[in-house]
Amino acid sequence: MKSRTKVAVIGGGIAGCSTLYHLTQERWSDVVLIERDELTSGTTWHSAAQVTNFGMTQTMVGLKSHSIALYKKLRDDPDYPVGYHHGDGGIRLANTEAQMQAYRHFSSMARGMGVEFEVIDAEECARRHPLISTENLLGGLWDGEDGDIDPAQLCQALAFHARKAGAEVYRSTDVTALTQHGDDTWTVHTNRGDIDADIVVNACGYRVNEVGTMMGVQHPVASMEHQYFVTEDIPAIAEAGHRMPLLRCPISDYYSRQEKGGLLVGFYEQDCKTWGMDGISPAFSNDLCPDDLDRVMDVLEGAFERMPALAEVGIKRIVNGPITYTIDGAPLVGPIPGKRNAFCIIGLRAGVGEGGGHGWLLAQQIVHGEACYDTWVIDPRRFTGHATVELTALKAIEDYQNEFRFHFPHEHRPAGRPAKTTPLTPVLAAEGAEFTVVNGWERVDYIKPSPEFHPSLSFDFDETFDLIAAEVANVQTNVGLCEVNGFNRFEITGTDRHTFLDRLCCGTVAKRAGRVGLGYLLNAHGMLKTEATFANLPASDRGPERVWYGSAAAAEFHDMDWLLSHPGADEDVQIRSLTNDQTILVLAGPKARDVLSACARGDWSAQAFPWLSVREAFVGFAPATIMAVSFSGELAYEIHVPNASLYPAYLALREAGSSHGLKLFGARAVDSMRMEKGFLHWKADILTEFDPFETGLSRFVKLDKGDFVGRDALLKRRENGPTKRLVTLEIATDRAPAHGGASLMRDGRVVGTITSGDWGHRVGKNLAYAFVEPELSNAGTAIELDLCGEMVPATVIPATIYDPKFRLLRA
Ligand SMILES: Cc1cc2nc3c(=O)[nH]c(=O)nc-3n(C[C@H](O)[C@H](O)[C@H](O)COP(=O)(O)OP(=O)(O)OC[C@H]3O[C@@H](n4cnc5c(N)ncnc54)[C@H](O)[C@@H]3O)c2cc1C
Repeated sequence: MKSRTKVAVIGGGIAGCSTLYHLTQERWSDVVLIERDELTSGTTWHSAAQVTNFGMTQTMVGLKSHSIALYKKLRDDPDYPVGYHHGDGGIRLANTEAQMQAYRHFSSMARGMGVEFEVIDAEECARRHPLISTENLLGGLWDGEDGDIDPAQLCQALAFHARKAGAEVYRSTDVTALTQHGDDTWTVHTNRGDIDADIVVNACGYRVNEVGTMMGVQHPVASMEHQYFVTEDIPAIAEAGHRMPLLRCPISDYYSRQEKGGLLVGFYEQDCKTWGMDGISPAFSNDLCPDDLDRVMDVLEGAFERMPALAEVGIKRIVNGPITYTIDGAPLVGPIPGKRNAFCIIGLRAGVGEGGGHGWLLAQQIVHGEACYDTWVIDPRRFTGHATVELTALKAIEDYQNEFRFHFPHEHRPAGRPAKTTPLTPVLAAEGAEFTVVNGWERVDYIKPSPEFHPSLSFDFDETFDLIAAEVANVQTNVGLCEVNGFNRFEITGTDRHTFLDRLCCGTVAKRAGRVGLGYLLNAHGMLKTEATFANLPASDRGPERVWYGSAAAAEFHDMDWLLSHPGADEDVQIRSLTNDQTILVLAGPKARDVLSACARGDWSAQAFPWLSVREAFVGFAPATIMAVSFSGELAYEIHVPNASLYPAYLALREAGSSHGLKLFGARAVDSMRMEKGFLHWKADILTEFDPFETGLSRFVKLDKGDFVGRDALLKRRENGPTKRLVTLEIATDRAPAHGGASLMRDGRVVGTITSGDWGHRVGKNLAYAFVEPELSNAGTAIELDLCGEMVPATVIPATIYDPKFRLLRA
C-alpha cells in the first residue's frame, strides 16, 4: 500500500469505483480506492441494477445520459465486457391527467439534454409491455434508453480501467479513523496501516455516517430496507419474442424488469422500515436483511393486478437490502460542508444507474472545482442545520413511500415539518398563512381564504391565482407585509473586510457606511457562483463597523464555505453567521414609508434615507436594521429584526399599518413581482453554467477594477462570446406558467431552456426567463415553448417591463 496519495476514495461500491475511474479520466492517476471487504460488498452486489434516463431536472437527466453512454462503452469493450441490457425501454405509468401532463413537461425538459421521451396512451403501454392490463391506466412515459446492468461486472470494469490508468485499489482494508492536519491534508488510518492523502472521498454507502463520524460530520443520509423478488419463468415473456421493458408504477409503488425468463419486481411499501439507525454490525458485508414479504402485501396486490401473469408463477428468490435516502431523495455529491479537501458521493438510492454520472460530476468538482453542469440539486450543502438524524429518517420514509410520485410545482410534503420556524410562524398560521418550505424554513406562500382551501396539484395555474393577484394589488396600491425568514446573513468584520469582498466580487463593492450594494461572486472559471447584498453598517452600540452579507436562504453552507476558503493568511477578516438569529419583515408598497414613519423614529424621507441605504433603528421598541431595498419593484424596506424581538416588531408594524390598508403577502406574490422587474433567483436563473454577461448582469461587472476571482477566465469568455443569453419572454397562454427546464423550440430544434416562469399580475402577462441562443435574444424574437406538450408562442421582451426606469422604488 502507498504511504501517500493525492485522493483516497473510501468505499468500493459503484460510487467509489465510478469516482476512481473518472478521476483517472481527468488524468489524475495518483489516486487510490480503499475497500473494507471486496468490491461491491455493500449494497451494489444485490442491486436490481436498472439503468434509466428519467430525471426531474436537467442535471439529473444529463448525468444519467453519461452513465448510459459509459455503460454502453464498457459493454462493448473487448478487454473487459460488461453485461448490459441497454434499450429494453421503460414505462412510467399514470392514471391521472395531472401525471400525464407532468410527463409531458419532463419530456420537454429532457429534450433540452438531447433525450427523447415519449408520452404514450394505455393501449400503447400494453402493446410495448404485453404483460400489463390497461385497467385504471391512462398511459405512461416511455424511456427508450432504459435497461439493466450487471453491477458487479460494472464496478470491476471501472476499477480495471482505473488501475490501467495508474490508480490503485486496496481490498480488505478497513478505514478506522481520519485525521486532518493544519495544511488541510489527511491521514487515513486503516487496519493495514496509514496513508496520507490530499483529499478524501466518502463513498461508503450505508456506512456513510461511520466514516462521517471519523471527520466529525453527520450526513443527512438514512437507510431503508428495500425488497424485490425474482419469479420463475413466465411463458408470456417467451411468447412476446422481445425483452420486457422496465415498469415504474406511481399508482401502486413497485417496479419491474425482466430477469432471465421471469420478472424481477421491487416494492416501495407504505409500511416501510429504516435500517441501521442504531449502528450496523461490522460483520454485515455481502449480506442481506431477513425477507419480509408480509410487509409489501399492499403493493404486491397492485403489481398482481397490473400483471396478472405474476400470479401464475412461483417466486425463485427474495432480496431485502439497505438502500440510502436523503432529505429530498437526491444524493449528496460534492464538497462536504464545513470541511476542506473532503468530498462525498453518498445517499444514492438509484446508484447503479446514476453512479456513472455522479462519479463523473464528482471527479470534475475535485479536479476543476466545478462540473460541466450546475450541481446544486446534488450539492451536499443544500441542507443546513435542520438536517438532523431524526428529520432525515422521517423524510427518508416519506420519500420511500412516494418513490415514483414526483413533486408537483409548489408541493411540499408534510414529513419533518415544521423544521425551522420563527416566533411569527404560529401567528401567521393563525392569520391563514399557507407555508412553503425554503431550506427547512416555513415561509409564508400566500394567505388562504379559509382553512379548507387546498389548491390542486397541477402544472397549470391553480386556484391560488386570484389570491396572489389580490396580494400583489394591495402591495401595488397600498402596502404589504411579508416575513422572509432564513435569509442568509453573515456579519463580516475586520479592517480588511472590503479588500476581501472586493477580491471575491466581480463588480464594485459599496463601502460607505450606511450604503447597500448588490454583487456577484464568480468561480475560477468566471462563472456565477453566488449573488449577495453588502450592507455597510456604521459603528454603534450594536457593534463595530461591519458588512452584512445577505444571500439566498439555501446558500448558508455554500456561501460560508466559499467565503472561508478565501481570506488571505494575513488579512483581518472575521465572518460569523446571523442567519438563524435575524428575520426580515418586508414592508412594500407606496404607503410603506408612511407605515415605517408611524412606528420607527427618524426621518425616512427619500432624501434622508434613499434607495440602497441602511440604518439601525427601532420598530416600536424592537431593535431593527432597516434597508431601503426592493425585490418587488415597489417602494420597500427590509426590516431585519432579532428573532427575540420579531413579534413586538410585527405588532408595531401591523398597528401602524392598520390605517394604510396593510395586508400580508407571501412568497408567491413576491415571485410574480420579481419577474416583472427582471430580478433573478439564485440556482434557478443564476447558475454555474453561465457567466455574468450571459446572465444579463454586465452592469455588475467591472473588469477594470483590478484583480478578482474569475477575472482572467471571464476575459477569455468575453473574447469567445456568449454561448447563451438570459432573456425575458412573454408566453402566449393564460393556462399554465412556463416551468424550469422546459424547452424552447424553433424549426424543430431546441434553442433554449426556461429557468423561471410566473404570471406578472401587475402587467397582466405570462412571464418567463430562459437561456436562449444569443442570436435569438433580441426583443421581439419569436420562439415556441414546449409547455407540457403544447407548442405555445413565446416572444422575447425587455428584461424589466414594470417600472423600467426604477422610479417607484426610488420614490
Ligand atoms: C434491493 C435493492 C434494489 C436496488 N435496485 C436498484 C436499481 O434497480 N437501480 C439502481 O440504480 N439502484 C438500485 N438500488 C440502489 C443501488 O444499489 C445503490 O444506490 C448503490 O449500490 C449504492 O452504491 P454505493 O457505492 O453508494 O454503496 P455500496 O455499494 O454500499 O458501497 C459502499 C462500500 O463502502 C465500503 N465501506 C464502508 N465503510 C468502509 C470503511 N470504513 N472502509 C473501507 N470501505 C468501507 C463498503 O464495504 C461498500 O463496499 C437498489 C438497492 C437495493 C437495496
